[in-house]
Formats: sequence, C-alpha cells, structure tokens
Amino acid sequence: MAATLAVPQSATTGHRFDFDVIVVGAGIMGSCAAHAAASRGARVLLLERFDLLHHRGSSHGESRIIRDAYPEARYLLMVRLARRLWAEAEAESGYRVLTPVPQLSIGPRGDAELLAAVKNDGAEEVDLARMWGGAFRVPGGWLTAVSEHGGVLNATKAVAMFQALAVKKGAVVRDNTEVVSIEKGPEGGVVVKTSGGEKFHGAKCVVTVGAWASKLLRSVAGAELPIQPLHTLTLYWRIKPGCERNLTAEAGFPTFSSYGDPPVYGTPSLELPGLIKVSCDGGPPCDPDKRDWTAGDKEVTERVAKWIEESMPHVEGARGPVIRQSCICSMTPDADFVIDFLGGEFGQDVVVGAGFSGHGFKMGPAVGSILAEMAIDGKANTAAESGVELGCFRINRFDGNPMGNAKNYQ
Ligand SMILES: Cc1cc2nc3c(=O)[nH]c(=O)nc-3n(C[C@H](O)[C@H](O)[C@H](O)COP(=O)(O)OP(=O)(O)OC[C@H]3O[C@@H](n4cnc5c(N)ncnc54)[C@H](O)[C@@H]3O)c2cc1C
Repeated sequence: MAATLAVPQSATTGHRFDFDVIVVGAGIMGSCAAHAAASRGARVLLLERFDLLHHRGSSHGESRIIRDAYPEARYLLMVRLARRLWAEAEAESGYRVLTPVPQLSIGPRGDAELLAAVKNDGAEEVDLARMWGGAFRVPGGWLTAVSEHGGVLNATKAVAMFQALAVKKGAVVRDNTEVVSIEKGPEGGVVVKTSGGEKFHGAKCVVTVGAWASKLLRSVAGAELPIQPLHTLTLYWRIKPGCERNLTAEAGFPTFSSYGDPPVYGTPSLELPGLIKVSCDGGPPCDPDKRDWTAGDKEVTERVAKWIEESMPHVEGARGPVIRQSCICSMTPDADFVIDFLGGEFGQDVVVGAGFSGHGFKMGPAVGSILAEMAIDGKANTAAESGVELGCFRINRFDGNPMGNAKNYQ
C-alpha cells in the first residue's frame, strides 16, 4: 500500500526520499530527535506504535529527576548540554517543564560512586538534622551533601512539548503506527515498513524504541543488543499532617538519591499535593509485550516502606503507598547508554539510541540533538563542542566483553 501521508514540501525539488529523517518511537528520545532534526530544516517523520503519550514505555508520568550529581564526568557534560536545550525548548514553547530544586546525595562515606558524584556536582557536606525541618534521618557516619543542581522534569508534558515543537517545525507525527521492518532502500537510504502495510522512504532513520530495541534490531538487522527491560515501580506516599509544606519543591525540598541499600531516590512534593514520590531503582526483568504489571511489587514496596520508616520521619511509610505506577527501565549491562550507528549493511543510515538504563530522561534533549546530528551530518558536533565524549556509548563495546564499560570512580 502506498503511503498516504502529506509529505512536507521543501524548497528543493527532486527528492529521492519521502523524508530526510524517519524517527521510530516517540518517547522522550525520539520526540527530542524529531524536534532537533526538524529544527535543522530536515523533513521529518516520527512514527509511534501506540497512542502518543501512552503509559506502556518509559517516558510517561509527572516527574523525573534532573541532577548534575553523576560519578562519571561524561554524563555531567551531557546533563549540562541538556539543561541548555531544556531551557531553549521551554522558552520556545512557553511550557514550563523543569522545576529547579537542590539535589541531596547520601550514602555510606566510603562509597566511591557517591564520592565521585558529590565531587563532580560540587556538592557541600551538610548537617542533615538541621535541614528541611529534620525530614531525613540517616545512619551515623553517612555522607550527606547538597548542591543547587537538582530539579524535577514533568515527564509526559516534556514529551508533549518536544512533539509540539517538532510539528511546529514541519515534522509529521503519526501514532498507532508500528514499524515492523527497516530495509536498505533500492536507491540508497532506508525503507521503513509498518504493520499496516505502509512504506516510507527515508534518507536516514533514527531508532529510539526503548524497551523494544533488542527485539526490533534483532529482527531488522540480526543485531544483538544486550538491553534488558525491567518492570520498575513509581510510588507516592502520604506526608504526615502538618509536615506537607516542608517537603514541597516551593519550600526548597530537594530531589534526592541514596547510595545505600536499597538504592532509593525521590522528588519533592509537587505534582500531587500532600504526597511525595519515593521509589527504588531496579525491578524484575519483563517482556514489554507480555507485561505482568505486578511482579515483584510487594517486595519493592516493602523495601521502600521500611526505608521511609527509618529515614523519613515525616512520611507515612507504614501505611503503604497511595499511588503506584509501572514503568520500564531498559538496562544495559554497564548502565551506560547505546548511541551509535547501527552499522553492518546499514552503515551510517540508521542511528540507534537505546538502553537508557533508568537515567536517560534528563538528557533527552542532548541525546535528541546527538541522534539528529549523527543522522544528518554523520557526527554530533554540538555534543563534541560541549565536550561530550560518545566513544563509551558504542554498540561494539559488548563484543567479547559482555559487561561493557569498566567502572572506575577513583
Ligand atoms: C520508574 C522510572 C523512573 C525513572 N526516573 C528517571 C529519573 O528520575 N531521571 C532520569 O533522567 N531518567 C529516569 N528514568 C529513565 C527515563 O525515563 C528513560 O531513560 C527514558 O524515558 C527512555 O526514553 P526512550 O525514548 O528511550 O523510551 P520510551 O519512552 O519507551 O520510548 C520508546 C517508544 O518507542 C515506541 N516503539 C516501540 N517499538 C516501536 C515500533 N516498532 N514502531 C514504532 N514505535 C515503537 C514505544 O511505544 C515507545 O513510545 C526513569 C525510568 C523509569 C521507568
């Protein structure tokens, strides 16, 4: 069946392709890539398998942490680039998606990862008992450090913002359109086929399909990406009466990360008054097409409840969470992203952004800019100018080395 889309007109005639860049997957990464490519004047098609802003992937919900506190300097530089791009998108759209708050990092004093994150963040050690009305209680001897480099991103609204900006710049966005194959085009470029029998010819293709990356790339190119989807919970808890104000973003309550066991994180009370989000990294492996939706939830909830009871005296841990939302984290073995050309017969015609390992949202606009520039220019100049090194995100780092990048926080 022939494509029925209105193909955007361009000043030049005689295009061999329907689109300059076809982006597959409209989560935060694909939406940012579509916006970045359209901003460069490319004719962009963004294809999404489900409804736009659906809840079956990784980019939905009302909050994600943005923080500079990263043990690896490469992510710090990417966060800084992303912050500039978040601000530009907010200014251009008139949306507000980022609420700046402090960032609190806590954990055992000898934890090398924590020490490196605190150093990179420029965070200062604080006496936690004196802060936020005594809202935290941690074991004696723990390192507790605060910086001004935290923040909360309104996730679904942010995805919508980048989709709206992409459309404003001429991108065509189609939802309920599942891509089933990507093939080499007869005249170069790629042919993207959908389950509905449509075919789109693109000069380049960007694949940002989140938890579906391993499946799609195996069927498209026989590529084996070691990306494991995990069923991960987001939990909201009731704040004890009288303490609500202290724990708000407005009152300067921080985003926080604990490097102890369990690896708990949280955001200030913001999107749901009287409630606070406190959750735990990780979860059981899942198949994004056969979700159980509840596997492991009881254990995770009990761990977080226990942590709250011990560590956050102003939150009702024992009564259990008020709201529970499911999400998927797409983990690589080393928790580093995959940002690379697919290679093989596709060479530089297909660019992959995947495996964001539960910490990619904050860097969405930077990743989008990198993917778009790799597709259009063959290299990511904006990232390079910002000092962002992409070598550690290559697909081939797993060849003969299943764990990928070695971690050294010293
Ligand atoms: C509970 C939880 C908390 C998190 N907290 C943070 C945080 O605090 N800070 C942070 O920075 N990050 C955080 N993250 C990570 C962040 O949310 C993810 O890294 C990010 O959302 C990944 O985006 P994505 O675009 O790669 O994937 P997705 O959002 O899943 O987008 C992929 C899209 O591709 C579509 N798709 C799949 N297959 C096809 C196909 N064949 N054809 C067309 N479309 C297809 C899917 O439907 C989906 O919409 C968290 C993640 C979770 C789950």
